[in-house]
Amino acid sequence: MAAAGLASALASLAASAATPTLRLDLHHTGGRGVDIYAVDRVVVEPLPWPGHPDRAVDTGDFGGYRFEVRDAATGRLLHARGYDSIHAEWISTAEAETRHRTFHESLRFAMPAGPVDVVVQRRNEQQAFVAVWQTRVDPADPFVERAPPPAQSLVAIERNGEPADKVDLLLLGDGYTAAECAAKFTSDARRMADALFRHEPFRSRRSDFNVWGLCPPSGESGIARPSTGVHRRTPVGATYDAFGSERYVLTFDNRSLRDVAAWAPYEFLTILVNGATYGGGGIFGTFATVAVDNDWADYLFVHEFGHHFAGLADEYYTSPVAYESAGKVVEPWEANVTALLDPARLKWADLVEPGTPVPTPWPKAEFEERQREFQERRKQIRAERRPESVMSALFREEREFTTRLFATSSHAGQVGAFRGARYDALAYYRPQLDCVMFTRDEVPFCRVCQRALEGVIDLYAGPRAGR
Ligand SMILES: [Zn+2]
Repeated sequence: MAAAGLASALASLAASAATPTLRLDLHHTGGRGVDIYAVDRVVVEPLPWPGHPDRAVDTGDFGGYRFEVRDAATGRLLHARGYDSIHAEWISTAEAETRHRTFHESLRFAMPAGPVDVVVQRRNEQQAFVAVWQTRVDPADPFVERAPPPAQSLVAIERNGEPADKVDLLLLGDGYTAAECAAKFTSDARRMADALFRHEPFRSRRSDFNVWGLCPPSGESGIARPSTGVHRRTPVGATYDAFGSERYVLTFDNRSLRDVAAWAPYEFLTILVNGATYGGGGIFGTFATVAVDNDWADYLFVHEFGHHFAGLADEYYTSPVAYESAGKVVEPWEANVTALLDPARLKWADLVEPGTPVPTPWPKAEFEERQREFQERRKQIRAERRPESVMSALFREEREFTTRLFATSSHAGQVGAFRGARYDALAYYRPQLDCVMFTRDEVPFCRVCQRALEGVIDLYAGPRAGR
């Protein structure tokens, strides 16, 4: 965007919504027998609150966590959102059995008129939210941090209206040198946005989105990959190997991340990692990541955004992941997976055509047999540190196989309950044979995923016109 255009965009951002953005930064410490929240700081962000005042309370039921902001004097609910956190993923790893760790988290909301109580809720074993911590926040407290963090220059990748009326998606570059920020970042960001808007429901709702870009320059190109001896200190700290999974990219430096991101109006945030090695991640309401130069970047971006945007579960179950097995099976809260404990009350029953068998047969044994082979070869390629093109070729072979296999299935394209999902071959079921949340095949989101995604668009941008 030209300098004049950007200046006017920023001026209209400042003028359009006078309500500032308040951010509560937390330390969340946990492990065996320990679960402690502690206030780090309360920050007034430099840009106004990008949300719509009529849609401050989350009407969905997604997320392992939820936070509420209540007026301290009256108890009136001012703001609520479901979310998930890195801590919530870490607590299910083997490491959490033997160590304590601290994770930094942020809760953002519109500046209240007076003191508020911020309540963090977590799901119990019956999946109901119960309060686990609360703290009072007084916006008039002199220790609220009002000085802005070091400025970043905002790029409008796609602007369709005022932030309050739109879903505001921030694409934040990490591992880009200053020269790469200038020459490469914007085209990477546009390419990722285009990939998202090729998929429904985003394609039909494109004008309900703004897409913003920020690119804090790195000293060196690329991000950390400790498993291969690559170490980097990048501006927001994205790194491969999160929780020991070589393809899992996260940042554990949330404090730096939020200070950079504060220079964009945003509700959703994907970190564009300047690298070609396959990897990404996505946490509901927190952030997503993607390696933009990988051959599968379009797929990765869209898949990880599904996690981040609507808390969609992975529908796959044959890849190695960082989690330990879940133990007792309860109905998961994620919209797109079910334990099918009561087939008569399938949560997406209204989308199942009469006559479709539930559970729904599919060529599971054949799929799993080839998957075992693919996963072995995948491990081997990483162990031998073969070039990324070898991995991409394996993924293409895998895609050709599943596409061919699934074409023979008589229930392809139907909504039912297909066994195998959420890292478990037996306990969970997915809604359709194939989906962006299941394979790297060139397929749309399944209809259940599409409906969940559309609900979140409505929460931020209002219902689609004409309905
Ligand atoms: Zn799906």
